[in-house]
Amino acid sequence: MPRDTITDLIHHGYQPPDGFESPAPGVFKASTVIFANTAALQSRDWRRKDGYTYGLHGTPTTFVLEERIATLEGGRQCVLLPSGLAAVAVVDLALLAPGDEVLLPANVYGPSRELARQELRRWGITHRLYDPLDAAALAALIGPQTKLLWIEAPGSVTMEFPDVAALARAARAKGVITALDNTWGAGLALRGFEHGIDIVMQALTKYPSGGGDVLMGSVVTQDAALHERIKLTHMRLGYGVAGNDTELVLRGLPTLAVRYAAQDHAGRALAHWLAARAEVARVLHPALPGSPGHAHWQAHCTQAAGLFSVLLDARYSLAQVHAFVDALRLFRIGYSWAGPVSLVVPYDLQAIREPGHGLEGHLVRLSIGLEAVADLQADLAQALAQAF
Ligand SMILES: *Cc1c(COP(=O)(O)O)cnc(C)c1O
Repeated sequence: MPRDTITDLIHHGYQPPDGFESPAPGVFKASTVIFANTAALQSRDWRRKDGYTYGLHGTPTTFVLEERIATLEGGRQCVLLPSGLAAVAVVDLALLAPGDEVLLPANVYGPSRELARQELRRWGITHRLYDPLDAAALAALIGPQTKLLWIEAPGSVTMEFPDVAALARAARAKGVITALDNTWGAGLALRGFEHGIDIVMQALTKYPSGGGDVLMGSVVTQDAALHERIKLTHMRLGYGVAGNDTELVLRGLPTLAVRYAAQDHAGRALAHWLAARAEVARVLHPALPGSPGHAHWQAHCTQAAGLFSVLLDARYSLAQVHAFVDALRLFRIGYSWAGPVSLVVPYDLQAIREPGHGLEGHLVRLSIGLEAVADLQADLAQALAQAF
């Protein structure tokens, strides 16, 4: 009996010729992975990366991105997650158990702290904040219950740059695992493993993607046993990434270094220009002398992300600060960063930091995109003139 056309549309005999190559790797998408026979089905172990079992466990496309991100960070193994925050969460959930404590820098990425405050707490895991600029004080904070130390270089929003190597040494001396949120460093300005870090996490959402159009996170390790702990939790929680999203990040990687350098160059030019403006009390950019932890940045990096904050003078009203932000035309108001469009967000220092941070004024964070620097500077100038 001839088969129905609909069946042929699903089980078609045509195979395209082998040997196709283009500059971009192919994009594979799957929930189901098809096995040749029962023996193949039964003998596959999803933990080995020499074959495929299920979409959640990886496709050629996700394996390719995993290897490239591991190379970028100078590590050996990588897991991918549907956001940077999910990457933070999988590290916490893989390594912490009831009764354990995690140490977070006082300037930690806000949602990472909320994760500790709300979710980890419900599982009997406590957290404490440490001063990222006081590596000497860290050893005294570490107790028998301390299992994980998060490091951010620089910290989110207030941009203090810690002595990464000294923090990693202090943790290692006490047997505490270190995890670096390397979203700012992007594996370019900073490579965590060279400074003694155990786990390097990144929001691929930011620089590696570069488009402002995809969310993804990565967790890279150098130690197979540590990777396996993270990978098992990753799998059990059902974290996977989609082929099309993976493709977007793969597409961004070839231009990562040139984008990073361009955004660094533009960011520093604008940071220096802003530092000389009367309206600006202080510029928080780790590559600028006088910024908190500048010496640590110099010891660890030569490059910087195109991301920094300014403290507008405390004599201005909040309404004036908001008028400044609202008057910007090229800088759009929005979270995230490292995309083509320059972004701006005003932050309430009192809401994001505990007292004692030593910063005064109204904080505004700028993410420098890929527009012409002169146009961005003109935009800042007209908005300052309007608001102050
Ligand atoms: C954006 C960001 C994250 C989270 O990434 P998402 O993909 O937006 O969840 C984590 N850490 C830092 C430092 C970030 O800037």
